Amino acid sequence: MYPPGSTFKLIDALIAQKDGVLFPNTVYPCARGYPPMGGKPKCHPHPTANLEMSIQYSCNSYYSYVFKSIVENYKLWGNFRNAYNHWREAVMSFGIGRKLNYDIPYEKPG
Ligand SMILES: [Zn+2]
Repeated sequence: MYPPGSTFKLIDALIAQKDGVLFPNTVYPCARGYPPMGGKPKCHPHPTANLEMSIQYSCNSYYSYVFKSIVENYKLWGNFRNAYNHWREAVMSFGIGRKLNYDIPYEKPG
């Protein structure tokens, strides 16, 4: 099995937009990585990104900020635990962690 990798960024982008904490013109910095964590996770060189460009460049820094905006949305969820549980339920609603029951043998839940 493999982790979902960058495809997961699109799920977080959808959740954040639905929560009202991410917009097409939202810009986050990237200094070849996520600045608040000393450049980790790392990223490759690219211009400053809005939402569309963040997908184009698969910016790890951008999606670190997006995740943070979801789980620190205390205005909507009151505290970190509630926000995290909301994020987790939203992720699960995309089928993450469940079998898809397609006709290829040996499927395991993601
Ligand atoms: Zn980046």
